[in-house]
Amino acid sequence: MQFESTLQRADGSTFPVQIDVVAVRDASDQPLFRVATVQDISERRKHIAELGRRTTELFRSNTDLEQFAYVASHDLQEPLRAVAGCVQLLRKRYAEKLDDRANEYIEFAVDGASRMQRLIDDLLTYSRLGRKNEKRQVTDSAASLSTALANLSVGLQESQAIVTNDPLPMIATYSSQLTNVFQNLIGNALKFRNASSPRVHVGAIRHEAAWHFSVRDNGIGIDPQYFERIFGIFQRLHTRTEYPGTGIGLAMCKRVVEQHGGRIWVESAVGAGSTFHFTIPDGDYAVSSESSV
Ligand code: ADP
Repeated sequence: MQFESTLQRADGSTFPVQIDVVAVRDASDQPLFRVATVQDISERRKHIAELGRRTTELFRSNTDLEQFAYVASHDLQEPLRAVAGCVQLLRKRYAEKLDDRANEYIEFAVDGASRMQRLIDDLLTYSRLGRKNEKRQVTDSAASLSTALANLSVGLQESQAIVTNDPLPMIATYSSQLTNVFQNLIGNALKFRNASSPRVHVGAIRHEAAWHFSVRDNGIGIDPQYFERIFGIFQRLHTRTEYPGTGIGLAMCKRVVEQHGGRIWVESAVGAGSTFHFTIPDGDYAVSSESSV
């Protein structure tokens, strides 16, 4: 028998205990006596309460952050549209009447406004990645890859990329998020290429109740000191003139993978290509069907 109770110290203060009672029996199974052990569980209780508090806090701070990102990006769009619209009108109607210096300033303003628009759009997309009580649906990861490649078709043709893949499994995912992950990772493989045309391989292996995917490229590679940083929101290692982008792609991949209970990381060396790895654990969603190609 086991139960929890509260005991009182000599000074009147109380503390929680767990009491275990075991009956000791003789050879013919008759009860001889009972032994009770009393264990002070105040530390354990404190630990559980602390864990609960931290989980609630984390949940709230995540929700707050999501809401902040959503509201900020949504509300910022309106005034930004007004600014962008006005400078564009200025360019259209007054370009002839103004000198070169003034026109140059207008170009800077137009460029800055459209860059900000892109950042806000990205932030909005990122904040919408919330799971919203949705259930995971069975997805053919080969179809997700095909959609990603179709969306990247212009870049694939321009760079004369060759993309190969292992047989890819059926897995359970939230809506079209796997397509986003493939698209971001392969898009990066095309963008951060070196002089030779990109070769990309998408791998998938089964490992400990999870699928372990990888996207390997032969591009410029990444210095190991930046392996963590590149997954942060708006973190980039290059200027916009070297390579375009806002630095949100990998942050989105990380968010999507973590929403599925998985992990994402990179292996790379400067000049030696990069391999991005991510796992999608089955969780309660083991898909029994065989891999498709
Ligand atoms: P963006 O592509 O807009 O810069 P990402 O979040 O997708 O944003 O990537 C962050 C940074 O990580 C990139 O700016 C780049 O420096 C580095 N990076 C990502 N993918 C690769 C890759 N395949 N090869 C080399 N560097 C990469």
